[in-house]
Amino acid sequence: MDCIFCQIVDGKIPSDIVYQDEEVIAFRDINPVAPAHLLIIPKKHIPSLTHLADVETPLIGHMVKVANQLARKEGIAESGYRLVINSGEQGGQLVPHLHMHLLGGRRLSDAIG
Ligand code: AMP
Repeated sequence: MDCIFCQIVDGKIPSDIVYQDEEVIAFRDINPVAPAHLLIIPKKHIPSLTHLADVETPLIGHMVKVANQLARKEGIAESGYRLVINSGEQGGQLVPHLHMHLLGGRRLSDAIG
């Protein structure tokens, strides 16, 4: 498996991991676009949101819960933050392993597209 995020899950390439449990891990984005920029990913390889099976939808709720906890830990829960899941080429997804961006620590653009 040459998926870069699977290699992070397996500890084969280094990353700045800030949280992990049985289902997900979270680490700092290597190319942050905001003072706080974390990625929350499932440990299981799911290529994108499009590939999420109906029975796997609770995973997204868990990712949001973890993101909210991390927002508090990063000190951005009150100032505000954004959760983003890019899906597919036109959705701007570059890494084909489902992931949620947690962005905050500055006033983010009003534009979402
Ligand atoms: P996306 O465009 O939604 O697929 O976002 C992929 C994100 O993964 C980008 O923000 C990259 O900076 C980030 N990224 C790629 N490789 C790594 C890595 N090895 N460690 C941490 N973040 C990474």
